[in-house]
Parts: sequence; structure tokens; C-alpha cells
Amino acid sequence: MTTQSAPQTVPKTEFSAKSDYIVAKFGGTSVANFEAMSRCSEIIVADKSVRIVAVSASAGVTNHLVALCKSSITPEQRQEHIDGVLAIQHAILDELSLDADLAVGFNETLKAFQTLALETLTTDQQHDELLSFGERLSSYLFAQVLRLKGLNADRFDVRKVLKTDSQFGKATPNVKATAQAAKEVLIPLLDEQVIVTQGFVGSDEFGQTTTLGRGGSDYSAALLAEAINAKSVHIWTDVVGIFSTDPRLCAKATPIARLSFDEAAEMATFGAKVLHPATILPASRSHINVFVGSSREPERGGTWIEREKSQQPGIRAVTQRKNQILLTLKSPEMLLASGFLARVFTILSEFNISVDLVTTSEISVAITLDNAPNASRPELEQACLDKLAEFCHVSVENNLTLVALIGSEIQLRQHEMNLMNVLKEFNIRLICHGASKHNLCFLVEQGESDNVVQAIHSRLLEV
Ligand code: ADP
Ligand code: ASP
Ligand code: MG
Repeated sequence: MTTQSAPQTVPKTEFSAKSDYIVAKFGGTSVANFEAMSRCSEIIVADKSVRIVAVSASAGVTNHLVALCKSSITPEQRQEHIDGVLAIQHAILDELSLDADLAVGFNETLKAFQTLALETLTTDQQHDELLSFGERLSSYLFAQVLRLKGLNADRFDVRKVLKTDSQFGKATPNVKATAQAAKEVLIPLLDEQVIVTQGFVGSDEFGQTTTLGRGGSDYSAALLAEAINAKSVHIWTDVVGIFSTDPRLCAKATPIARLSFDEAAEMATFGAKVLHPATILPASRSHINVFVGSSREPERGGTWIEREKSQQPGIRAVTQRKNQILLTLKSPEMLLASGFLARVFTILSEFNISVDLVTTSEISVAITLDNAPNASRPELEQACLDKLAEFCHVSVENNLTLVALIGSEIQLRQHEMNLMNVLKEFNIRLICHGASKHNLCFLVEQGESDNVVQAIHSRLLEV
């Protein structure tokens, strides 16, 4: 559940007939080095409909950039992180010679990165500027790799089209402005060229660089697809689709061939890292199919996420989201009083906080939110806690994991015995079911959560 963005209307007239275009997105491991980039380029060569390629930063780069934003960093650490970014770029450059036009842009960008990275950056706006360098650099290199395959490819600065508000670190896209800008400066290029652009990055109405939050390149790809009225988005990553649970955690996890938009959105929201949670939003509202596959093994197919309702009722996957905060707000005033929840949520909204689970009792409300370690912006700020503490008692618990069963038409009674048998072995801190038929969620100790997921997968999903 997000408190940040109002539903956006898409200008209908722009979306009457679908183009044949496909937007392809390649994640960090897919563009980690020259070899990986070359593999990805084969995918684009093989499919003439791919006209926009949104790339992530090469694996590891954004983590270095996030570290460089921290004010507590020592000069030695700063230099190590700068060197880390440079080493990744140079390893790719060693295999590649850039055409003059790309070389000019690449060198200027690299220089700008080195200058900014040496400064102590204090504002969220400066942080976003620095965080954007990963994608800005990888897109030059990837454009050159495509040219090596004989494609008429060019690099395009996504900030010209992906328009957002000014919430640095977690900007909300302006769908209308993005569609308008795409119509003016991006769509006219697509008949002739394959455009390589940046995921994750946008710009606000003043032209300042913004970012969409960690993992946001998937979201960028879906937003660009919406803006150009593409027929589908292809998310190329390091797994052959969306699995019944993280395949790195359960060897018996199986890929899911088809998911409905609702199921995929719930999976992404509740921790299937393979997709950024907001990716499905533009796809679903603009009827764009989403494919998820492996850039290492494209021939193995993947998962198609489509509008159709799921044909399979029941539990289809289990996900987990670690590093959750449980915020419990207690106020005797809540007893028989109206307005307490409204007050709480108004404050959360002021601080642009996304809430996931909510349970209430007569005098308290418990909510969960993210505390991801490498987030580009902390979810819960002290200022927010102080404001809440003005009218209620606030308690904060850390080191929790949200585990979610995902599916369609989940009915507790069908799975009751099996589920209860699994759960009774663990300490369940909070449980939520009912708001959606697509999920059943609970909160467990982080130290236990891998075991919980494995136990649930083995007893409910391995048949
Ligand atoms: P990229 O860098 O391509 O964006 P990510 O690391 O963000 O890739 O996402 C891919 C990873 O998501 C996989 O390596 C896998 O470990 C993890 N993952 C978590 N849950 C799932 C799931 N249900 N299905 C597939 N992958 C999952
Ligand atoms: N590079 C950004 C990150 O690592 C965005 C992305 O890869 O999706 O979070
Ligand atoms: Mg990702």
C-alpha cells in the first residue's frame, strides 16, 4: 500500500492503437561486463521490434554510489568506492573502442562523476545526481556494443522524457508529461534507430535529476513502454522468469509460465526482487504485456504477465521481504475516537512513506514498512517519528521479515491445516489476510524467515 501517489490518468487518445514496438530492459548482472552486454545484444539483434533498450548500471555500481552518498564515509573509503566504479567501467572499455560521438559523452560523464563523487553531498537532490551516473555510463557502453553488431543504435538521455516530481530518491513519474515528451522527442527516432537509454533515472520539472528508488529500472521500462504505446516490455535478468519462490533460496522452486497482472504485482510488492513493485502499474493500466526471462539463457523462455485473470486458483508463490520495521502506535484517545488513523496516515503521507501491512485494535495500530539496507533514501525518518510521538506512544521493532503467500482466490480454509502446521513451528508476530484475495501475509523474525519460506514452499508448493 502506498501513501505517495494519486492514481494517474493516461491520455486515452494517445493509446488507441498499439505500436509493434517492444521495450527491453537489461538489469545490472546482464550489463555487468562486456561479455554479458554482448549476450544481451544478440537478443536485440534477434528481435527487430525492440526499439528501446533501458539499461541498469553495471552490477555493483549503484551500491558504490549509494555508499558515496553517506556522510560518514572516510576519505579512504570514498576513494575505494570511486575506484570501484571506475574499475567496472574500464574493464568494459578495455574490450571496446567507442565511436567519437559516444566517446565524447562518455568521457564527459565519467569526469562529471569523478568531480561530484569527491564532494560531500548533503541534499537528496545531490544524491540523485550522483546515483544517476551508473545508468548514464552503462548506456554509452551498451550503445557501442549494439553498434558492433551492426545495429543503428544511439544513446538517449532519458531525462528528456521520463518526467517526475521532485521527491528525490523515490520520485513519482508524471505519466502525462512523460507521454507528451516521448511523443515529441523519442517516438520520432524509433523507426530508424534502436535507442539505448537509462533505467532508474528521471528529471523533475526544473530539469533536476531524480531517481525512482532501488531496482527502479524495471519501472522505467514499463513507463517508457506506456509512453510510446509499446506492445510489450521484456525484462531480461539473471533468472528464467518468475519462480514459485526465490530460486536462490529453494532449489525446487519452479518457473511460472503465466501470471495475471494482479498476481505479479502482489509478488513484486511482497518481495520477489525480480520485479520492481511498481512495474505492473503502467503495464496493467495501459494493457502492455510483460515478459521476464534470462539474458544468459533467452532460449529457455520465461514468464508472461498478462491481463487475463489467472486460471489457477490457490497459492502460486511465496515471497519474503526482509528488513521490515513494525511501527506500533498506541493512543488511549483512539478508543471511541474518530480521526486517529487519518492523523497517522496524513503524517506518513507527508513523509512519503509506503505502508505495507496494517492491523488495528481498539487503541492501537500496527503498520509495517521497509528498512532496506542499501536504499537510496531511508524510509522512516526521525522527524516522522517525532511528529507521531506528539499524539501517541510510538514503538519501533526491527529485524523482521514479511512473508507472503501469493495467488488468486486464496481462501484460508483450503490451506488451513497445512499452513497452520508450518506456522506453529515459528514465532508469528502479525498476520494479515482479507483485503485482497491475492495474498496472505505475516511477519516473522528475520533470522527465521528463510526457514519459514522453505518450509511453506516444501509443504504447500512442492507437489
Ligand atoms: P536485475 O539486476 O536483473 O534487475 P534483480 O537482482 O533485481 O535482477 O532480480 C533478480 C533476482 O531476483 C534473482 O536473481 C532472484 O534471486 C531474485 N528473486 C527473488 N524472488 C524471485 C522469484 N520469485 N522469482 C525469480 N527471482 C526471484
Ligand atoms: N541501478 C539501480 C539499482 O541498482 C536501478 C536498477 O538496477 O534497477 O537499484
Ligand atoms: Mg532488479
